[in-house]
Amino acid sequence: MDYFPLFCRLQGKRCLLVGGGEVAERKARLLLSAGADLHVGALHFSSAFRQWADSGEITPISGTFNDAWLDRCWLVVAATDDDAVNQQVAQAAEARRIFCNLVDAPEQASAIMPSIIDRSPLMVAVSSGGRAPVLARLLREKIEALLPQHLGQLASLAGTLRARVRQRFASMAQRRYFWERFFTSDRLAQTLANGDGARAAQMVDSLFSDALPAQGEVTLVGAGPGDAGLLTLKGLQQIQQADVIVYDRLVSEEILNLVRRDAERIFVGKRAGHHCVPQAQINQLLLEQAQRGKRVVRLKGGDPFIFGRGGEELEILAQHQIPFSVVPGVTAASGCSAYSGIPLTHRDHAQSVRLVTGHLQQENALEWEKLAAEQQTLVFYMGLTQAPHIQQQLMRHGMRADMPVALVENGTSTRQRVVTGTLERLSDLAQQVESPSLIIIGSVVSLRDRLRWF
Ligand code: SAH
Repeated sequence: MDYFPLFCRLQGKRCLLVGGGEVAERKARLLLSAGADLHVGALHFSSAFRQWADSGEITPISGTFNDAWLDRCWLVVAATDDDAVNQQVAQAAEARRIFCNLVDAPEQASAIMPSIIDRSPLMVAVSSGGRAPVLARLLREKIEALLPQHLGQLASLAGTLRARVRQRFASMAQRRYFWERFFTSDRLAQTLANGDGARAAQMVDSLFSDALPAQGEVTLVGAGPGDAGLLTLKGLQQIQQADVIVYDRLVSEEILNLVRRDAERIFVGKRAGHHCVPQAQINQLLLEQAQRGKRVVRLKGGDPFIFGRGGEELEILAQHQIPFSVVPGVTAASGCSAYSGIPLTHRDHAQSVRLVTGHLQQENALEWEKLAAEQQTLVFYMGLTQAPHIQQQLMRHGMRADMPVALVENGTSTRQRVVTGTLERLSDLAQQVESPSLIIIGSVVSLRDRLRWF
């Protein structure tokens, strides 16, 4: 271990920062956020330092470094643009046994500053001992993404509950079980973040009252159209906490790889030659799993509230008072549009966009005159088998035969294929692609020639 990780309390403690430029500013911000009594010595001060000095946040010392600046200091940071000065500061600090951080020369520093993820009071620090700062930064970004934004508030609340937990739960296992549920309750974190103290207290009470698994909950998560990078951070957090994942065919393998390893996975999609699980049965499954106290994630392709039957699944949960929440996802229309270089609206082409289902329960369910109008973009979901009908109806209601159309198969995934043509050939084009495919109709399609990038 080259460096010993240590968290030290700087509140009100005198710290010396040598340097008044941009690099020093970054260090000053960190030290100030830790509440240090910051003295800054430099020949010249940037405007940020002058403002801090005016508002009394720092104590400026003008001039060249001298040893007396170190008097009564707990920590020193040398951040001038002159290596010789930085080293002089470091040596003086070493002689007085004061820890010193040096910019750009970690090997000569007795203290280094890690990359930090701040969810105060929870802090995560990452360091590569100055050897690979970019790696440390990349790791920091990954951890940053994994830790819910409101975790700090949960951690603060936890601090106030420790005695009560010890009293209420005799065994370590029970305590661990309590804390696990406490820290993975996104709902509680959100309630705290919303400042609803009364509701949060109720939720905590209910965690205390169930020694056995409480009633579970269901989160409807939109997985996006395919590319795992399009999953939201919140979606990722949810699938990493779930006990049970209920998913269907549109959820990509890449995304399933991100699911918590020991979560139970239940597939409810259509397998070749078989029918999909009837919707009523899925609803029942979600309900039963939640009633057994499980944290259930219902993972759906795209966005759960866009042709996803998300609403139907939640209604039955609401009837049975099972708590639920919804995490939106990138819907196929957005994903396919972006990855095929076809903007859905454009000042010169389309002032509105319509998301339409091609899965028609009755022949004439759609208002075809409105759909055939100019200056808009139509996006048909589940439209492949109905393509001949869509073509015929749009043409019959006045859409021009040479209106550009695009079919996007497996949009956003590495297997994405895009076929373009005109409305009069839509029915033939539909034979060239497979499900899942989206049909985009409108003059915006012509922009693809210039805007395709994927
Ligand atoms: N809730 C989903 C849509 C479910 S309906 C969403 O918001 O995207 C299923 C239809 O979505 C498919 O028939 C197809 O038309 C479309 N679809 C979903 N994923 C797709 C993809 N990766 N590429 C093209 N179309 C897709």
